[in-house]
Amino acid sequence: MKRFTSFLLVLALLLGGEAFAAGEGVGFIPATGEDAADPFASAEPAASAAPEASPEAAQPASYVPTDVDPASVTYPVECEPEEYIVRAGLFYGSTALASANLQNFDGSGYMFGWYDKDGVFTAVGYTSQERITTFSDRNMYVKDSTYYDSMGPSGATSIGAYHVQTPDSYPTYQAALAAAGAYTSAFPAYINGEWRVRAGSYRSSGAASEAAASLGVPNGTVVGASNTCYTVAVTPTGTIIFEFDNGGDRFGIRPIGSEEPVTWHKGYKWAGGFEYKRNSSGSLVVINVVEIGDYTKGVIPYEIGTNWTEEGTKVGAVCASSYVVFNKNRHSAYGFDVCNTDHCQVYQGLNRATAQSNAYCDAVAGLAMFYDGKICDTVYHSTNGGYTEDAVNVWGVDYPYLKAVPDTYEDLDRAQYGRWSYTYTGEEIARVLNQKNYSIGTVTKAWVEKFTPAGNVYTVSFMDASGKKLSFSKEAARTILTSSSLGKGTRSQRYTISSGTVDIVAGESGTSISASTAQVIGADGSVQGLRNPGEVYVLTASGTDVLRSESTSGVFVVSGTGWGHNVGLSQWGSRGRAEAGWDYVSILEYYYTGAKVMNIQEVLGR
Ligand SMILES: [Zn+2]
Repeated sequence: MKRFTSFLLVLALLLGGEAFAAGEGVGFIPATGEDAADPFASAEPAASAAPEASPEAAQPASYVPTDVDPASVTYPVECEPEEYIVRAGLFYGSTALASANLQNFDGSGYMFGWYDKDGVFTAVGYTSQERITTFSDRNMYVKDSTYYDSMGPSGATSIGAYHVQTPDSYPTYQAALAAAGAYTSAFPAYINGEWRVRAGSYRSSGAASEAAASLGVPNGTVVGASNTCYTVAVTPTGTIIFEFDNGGDRFGIRPIGSEEPVTWHKGYKWAGGFEYKRNSSGSLVVINVVEIGDYTKGVIPYEIGTNWTEEGTKVGAVCASSYVVFNKNRHSAYGFDVCNTDHCQVYQGLNRATAQSNAYCDAVAGLAMFYDGKICDTVYHSTNGGYTEDAVNVWGVDYPYLKAVPDTYEDLDRAQYGRWSYTYTGEEIARVLNQKNYSIGTVTKAWVEKFTPAGNVYTVSFMDASGKKLSFSKEAARTILTSSSLGKGTRSQRYTISSGTVDIVAGESGTSISASTAQVIGADGSVQGLRNPGEVYVLTASGTDVLRSESTSGVFVVSGTGWGHNVGLSQWGSRGRAEAGWDYVSILEYYYTGAKVMNIQEVLGR
């Protein structure tokens, strides 16, 4: 039995005061507890029989371009999307809006109606107004284009929820629009499958009733403040131009006036249309209904940036598309697929999109990753530091397309946290573990107990002077040392632990050597020291075993490469491969083992 003397390593203590990012790296953890409920189960508009009511409507067009003259269309009309559609929640829960302003950016108006679950829009009316505001049918105020559902500021204009409805229904939207012109302050409305005319705007039914004669509707009916009705007004004036009440809980608006209309809403430019859903307090949940190619244009600037290579950007767009298809209905409780924050994917419309990033997104619009006919969960990370990891070794869930693959294309010197190193005292490690409710005294030994076949950490262990040992495996091996108060933490699952005094113990035999003084003999006879004593393997009777590095000095250096969870695609590896001439299909199919880039609608239908 040979025994080598131990050797004191020089510690790299020149670690700067690097800020610890709040995020745990880039990438997504698979959704759990997905709510499979169909949000449309009870929301189908009640007036689906309306087309039969009008002979002109018997042959709805399957596709109405957005640059059509809305006055030339016979309503109701179905407008089919050209691509798979995404419902992205913009305002919901505590951020639901009292009113929603829209301003057509390059178009000239809007169609009113509803979207079905596949994004087919049924239009029942239109306006050529470019600035419109939607709110629940209730008493409102407006001043300087801002709407209030309670008492507005001094000088605000009142918008009452009560109107006088004429006795007649009309065969077409245009007929109702023309009839409204004959009354004072009247507007068309689509109410339970019929086109009607409503006049006036009062804050109580009594006031509306008293005004009926002066409005020219002495035999009308007072209506208003329905809890299923939506009101549309001209933004600056508050003049009501349309009401929609279909007994259901959704109202849709589709922009028109140009080939690809863009709408301003709350400071952002959005492609596609909008869907509103009243919540129990009458505020509006705001949903952007957008074709998937346009959706990716609003994700790319925030998730990867607009300065990546063409193929690298296309990779990002296909991943973004795959993500939303995989996570369809993730927010079904609110009535949409994905939110627009980093909970799902950051999506902020077109403000930061460039002509070039848009062109790259267009080139891959409608494509996603499929494995065996099923959409892939295209998780990704910033860098893996040399080797990706099987999902089963990170999350404990086996995905056939999330397997470990080697990666030599990452520029770890340029990537944020491409290489990292943090020094802990044994007391600090104990404190971090104690804060996470694990009981252990000052740590005297810390070591990687087991590596995965890819060379990432599977189990990391800690021991105190009393011999108490704690072990953490898979994703916990990455997150357990992370401490925001210390500003330290492992950035990936690819790291080693060394310390002032290193003893290496092979297997269970107890053979101890100093890694720092050990040398290897190469095939050509050259002799050199070990570059990374934390990753030493030996051949044992039962196969290959990792040499464990244990520390007795009380100081530990945790060094690694990569940032993120190591599963799936590497953003920096993709970038490197793109720069080396790989196309986006080759890159995606390299990282997602056995998966294929395919057209979403061809695989899944609409
Ligand atoms: Zn979300």
